[in-house]
Amino acid sequence: MRGVIAGAAYRPEGPGAAWDEDGFTLAASAIESLQDAHPDLRRPDSAVVAGAFVPSELEDLARYLGLPAGSAVPREATLAAAVAHASSIAGTGGLTLAVGLERRSGDAGGDGALALAIGEGAPVPVPTGPPPDTLGGEIAGWSAAIAGARILSGAGASATRVARPPDPDPPLSPGQPVAQGAYVPWPRYVESTTAHWSLVAARCPACGTVTFPAGRACRNCGAREGLVPFRLGRDSGVIAALTVIGPGGQPTEFDPQVEAHGPYGVAIVEFPEGVRATLQVAAPPGPALALGSAVATRLRRTYPMEGRWRYGRKVLPRAGGPNPG
Ligand SMILES: [Zn+2]
Repeated sequence: MRGVIAGAAYRPEGPGAAWDEDGFTLAASAIESLQDAHPDLRRPDSAVVAGAFVPSELEDLARYLGLPAGSAVPREATLAAAVAHASSIAGTGGLTLAVGLERRSGDAGGDGALALAIGEGAPVPVPTGPPPDTLGGEIAGWSAAIAGARILSGAGASATRVARPPDPDPPLSPGQPVAQGAYVPWPRYVESTTAHWSLVAARCPACGTVTFPAGRACRNCGAREGLVPFRLGRDSGVIAALTVIGPGGQPTEFDPQVEAHGPYGVAIVEFPEGVRATLQVAAPPGPALALGSAVATRLRRTYPMEGRWRYGRKVLPRAGGPNPG
């Protein structure tokens, strides 16, 4: 029977909204929460959203989900309409996501997102009672209807309330001078987003070496055939090296962040498979993270360039993880 078969929510933790969250990162984190709670769910074929997403966030969501190039993610005014729309396109055996986004104004906090999976299976009962008149009410109703709904929180989100960057996207024009720092051209950035956003590595069938990010060749023996892609555990890393950047030491594209938020950390994170990734630290510098700390990773805004936000995974302290400090 077709219907809403699973759901999960994401809500940044702490008194203030995270500086580096937006519609795309909130939606992606809700979808990751859904995948963590239901690892048996197949990859979605399509998605419908409700809430104040801006067009670039919907493009990035389509890319994150691996939808075919040029796929649009339709937006509805209410979660009920998004569920109805998603139900109408979840064909036999298909899986569609309905993602509701709740954003409150400015830095008031309370942002969050809910991801519902629509497909074949035992359906979740539709919330009863009069229809809520806000998207937040709809999200609360569905969250209550889903027994054992898993809520992934943004553990370690900044406890310091800081103003968020302009939202929707800042009015940068593609022609204006941009970063003098770690400039990555858009085509190269887009080429690697799937591997970086979802931590996709590849295992070599010839020598067993794991290469991250997954690329065209094994980093050990250079083999190009038969590499097997897989996802590193997004909350399985440990800090192998840690440094603090700024003010003045940061690439220029991080100037607004340093002005608003102060110094930030950069960590080399080692995963159990023996590969390392260099990731920004989302939590403010402090004792919560040190060498050997277990970390979680979340998709976050990194910096604006060429008129839109770019994104990457950032590290946060892992709740319950070993911490030598
Ligand atoms: Zn190899």
